[in-house]
Amino acid sequence: MGAVVVGYDQILQEVYRQADKRPELADTIELHCELLRAQAHAGVSPQRPALDGEEASARLQQGVPLLSPESLGVDGQTLAGLCDQIGFIVAERRPELAETLAGIRAWLDERRDQIGALAVEYLREGRVREGEGSGLDGKLLAFIFNNALRPFLRVQAQALAPWVDDSAWYRGRCPICGGEPDLAALERESGRRRLLCSRCDSEWTFQRIGCPFCGNDEPRRLAYYPSDDQVYRLNVCEQCRRYLKTIDLRQVAGERLLPAERILTVAMDVAALDAGYGEG
Ligand SMILES: [Zn+2]
Ligand SMILES: [Zn+2]
Repeated sequence: MGAVVVGYDQILQEVYRQADKRPELADTIELHCELLRAQAHAGVSPQRPALDGEEASARLQQGVPLLSPESLGVDGQTLAGLCDQIGFIVAERRPELAETLAGIRAWLDERRDQIGALAVEYLREGRVREGEGSGLDGKLLAFIFNNALRPFLRVQAQALAPWVDDSAWYRGRCPICGGEPDLAALERESGRRRLLCSRCDSEWTFQRIGCPFCGNDEPRRLAYYPSDDQVYRLNVCEQCRRYLKTIDLRQVAGERLLPAERILTVAMDVAALDAGYGEG
């Protein structure tokens, strides 16, 4: 059975509990907390599962994630509003991006009626080509869609979690939405590796060794860089040049919430990108 999606209040509490230890990240952490609050208040209510149990197990057996982009059933008005709000929040905190974001918000505003189709493209390809073709910053646009779609994906993740047989999946992509992981945890007891979906916050088990992005499991082409306290490590793959942040739960006392750790480890993203490893 899949793990339960952690609630927004819990994530926020955990981020603030640990934020004191990272004063140099205060600004970035506050930005992400504002984004979380916007997602929490977007008015996306719990949903019935998009498919039934029989369909679910058939898809999983074929290695197909449960949620197809079309079946997500996003309310266009809510999504458009959230995209705009996220653009606004980031612009407030990152004045150097304000102009770029104003361009993105104006572009999205003209396409409010087609936002569902843009969302489907983002979910399918991880990018919005039409926006890139119009000269918009593709990474920022993807960032906005990732954050704006999260509440919709989370409610489906919650509804579908009971149908995911964790021990039968073992793939690099999310069993619910097909998203890539952006954080891993090594379990306290077993040392097993659990991945966090970058899109819907689902968590699932994956093999301990190997790159979830390209499947490379050759030790010579994999490396990791532990933090001084051994709690965190940056896993990198020399085959696809991607990276994965990892928290070793055997090195910490008490529980940690992965969606909070994603935010608390933003410095590792910067270090990985600086070292030439990519997000995809
Ligand atoms: Zn997912
Ligand atoms: Zn790889």
